[in-house]
Amino acid sequence: MTSQYNIRYSPDDATSKLAHVPVIIIGGGQAGLATGRLLSESRIEFLILEAGRRIGDSWRKRWDSLRLFSPAKHSALPGHPFPGNQSEFPTKDQVADYLEAYALGSRLPVCLNTKVKALERVNETYIVKTNRGCFEADNVVVATGPYQTPRIPSWASDLNPDIVQIHAGAYKNPRQLPPGDVLVIGAGNTGAELAIEAASAGHRVYLSGRDVGHVPRVARIANGVLFWFLTRTLFTLRTPIGRRIHKALRAGHGGPLVRVRPKDIAVEGIRRVGRVSGTRDRRPVLENGEVLNVESILWCTGFGLDFSWVHLPILAPDGYPLHDRGRALSEPGLFFVGLPFQRSLSSSLLGGVGRDAAMVTKWIVEGMKRSTKATESQRSSFRPKRLSSAA
Ligand SMILES: Cc1cc2nc3c(=O)[nH]c(=O)nc-3n(C[C@H](O)[C@H](O)[C@H](O)COP(=O)(O)OP(=O)(O)OC[C@H]3O[C@@H](n4cnc5c(N)ncnc54)[C@H](O)[C@@H]3O)c2cc1C
Repeated sequence: MTSQYNIRYSPDDATSKLAHVPVIIIGGGQAGLATGRLLSESRIEFLILEAGRRIGDSWRKRWDSLRLFSPAKHSALPGHPFPGNQSEFPTKDQVADYLEAYALGSRLPVCLNTKVKALERVNETYIVKTNRGCFEADNVVVATGPYQTPRIPSWASDLNPDIVQIHAGAYKNPRQLPPGDVLVIGAGNTGAELAIEAASAGHRVYLSGRDVGHVPRVARIANGVLFWFLTRTLFTLRTPIGRRIHKALRAGHGGPLVRVRPKDIAVEGIRRVGRVSGTRDRRPVLENGEVLNVESILWCTGFGLDFSWVHLPILAPDGYPLHDRGRALSEPGLFFVGLPFQRSLSSSLLGGVGRDAAMVTKWIVEGMKRSTKATESQRSSFRPKRLSSAA
């Protein structure tokens, strides 16, 4: 088997006979692992299917200098504190190692190198088709992450091929940038951080995009209590301000800057410019008509979701699943954990995903109790017909 984790089912077995699992979790990132840990505490049998070859790889693949904007003490999953100095901001590799230790320490059943290609339903049963065989499940939790497909506008293909274009998802460090001016498109946290990194490496940098505001430092003092109050309790789907932020994020706008401040951008001499509206003479052109003569572009324009492999009518026209706090509206037994703003701004954060996972676990446990009761009462009301003597 390809995993060092605790495996009870193998997709290899599934190729010969359809393995039936009460709960399948698709995706072994923080959302899938937190849900797995809570299901195992509830003594529910489940399996995590993970496309990657190692737990934590979605963090390992991110750019070299990336650190969490949330300190260790606010970046823990249920039941397992983040190790080390609690007020420090862990590196992306420390997060990856923490997730791997979490899977091992919690003895979670994970199938690595197992990509789900299709999710279907036949009557009450979900059919999960992977690159290595199929499974049947009563419940499915989709935890494939909030950042799946890089968002790049279609006019990018009109740019001069000499301009090096890199999306933040593929960016590692400034050595990928050719000498000369850099245009960073998207002024959210990622754009601000990468603009500062490029400027520190000696490039003249333009940062394009609207000012997204920033979380004031005061919100992060006193152990970040105010920050977590805002992201968990105030910025939720139940409050008007939360719904406004949700709408903006869903439309592709960046969230407010955390840790990095507008003055950090100014100090580096980065020139803030408006939106890029397209190309002129194969160069990026701003809405005010100014053409930027740059050698490279860093796309910090975010990611979209991709549920094309879910063959069920669960999506709104904009590609987001129709759900209530993670419970699919039209498909009983289908859940999501880790969606952007699934319930609140904290839903896709390390320190917030556990709360959503706990709610989904509770629903799964209740659903399983209900179906056991239904089966038991069906059994107890079943009276075998007495064979008539005429038969
Ligand atoms: C640049 C950046 C910085 C961030 N900084 C912070 C921070 O400071 N603090 C914080 O709390 N959060 C931060 N986040 C947000 C969030 O914590 C991460 O995005 C996190 O990776 C989300 O975890 P996840 O488990 O939901 O998704 P992912 O980590 O993306 O995990 C999803 C998993 O599902 C697997 N998968 C996907 N499709 C399939 C399939 N079809 N079959 C099987 N497996 C599949 C993937 O291989 C992956 O392992 C940051 C995000 C980014 C992008």
